[in-house]
Amino acid sequence: MAGISWHYVFKFIITGDAAVGKSSLLIRLTDQRFLANPDPTLGVEFGSKLITIPEENKVVKLQCWDTAGTESFRSITRSYYRGAAGCLLVYDVTSRKSFLNARTWLADVRQHADPHLTCILVGNKVDLCDPEQDAEQSSEHTRTVSASSSKNPKRQVSLEEAELFAKEEGLLFVESSAKSGLNVDQAFEQAARDILEKIHRGA
Ligand code: GDP
Repeated sequence: MAGISWHYVFKFIITGDAAVGKSSLLIRLTDQRFLANPDPTLGVEFGSKLITIPEENKVVKLQCWDTAGTESFRSITRSYYRGAAGCLLVYDVTSRKSFLNARTWLADVRQHADPHLTCILVGNKVDLCDPEQDAEQSSEHTRTVSASSSKNPKRQVSLEEAELFAKEEGLLFVESSAKSGLNVDQAFEQAARDILEKIHRGA
């Protein structure tokens, strides 16, 4: 039997406030599932997935670590960040507080992680803002979020504001839904591509 092989292994960490959907994004990535009421005491700690970057003809193994509930204690240690090549900095588009706190999480990442780490800002729960997104999506179809969704009353962080923050801080950016699957695989793939580019440039 042919063994599964990969060209690269990238460690990813997932940070952000409690309840923004970090565990749900990891479950969606690795298990293509969504749990409406996950047990908060059973935070997912780790998941791995093989992804293919077709234009590079490369298979990348993503090893993803979730904070698994420790975020409320801000007890994330240096060892959690050690060796990480990618970081998902997650906020909830319906929670302004979680977006404002993303700055603190970013500072934490910058303090502890490798300076070359690729960081992608992920505005999750976009399905709550745009009912059209509230349906199972094929991961092949990356849909852009319409500008009109920025005006939905549930939305507390506009697409434009988050884009600006990402640009200023040199972060990649995507809005996602762990519920529908929108842009979940793409968030990880986009970051993996960026890491590969850095490897090619010798960064
Ligand atoms: P974590 O504490 O950041 O790991 O957040 P969880 O993954 O435990 O999610 C917190 C709550 O938000 C749970 O009730 C999830 O079902 C819900 N949730 C997570 N992602 C989404 C999403 O994309 N859309 C919606 N509507 N709910 C979500």
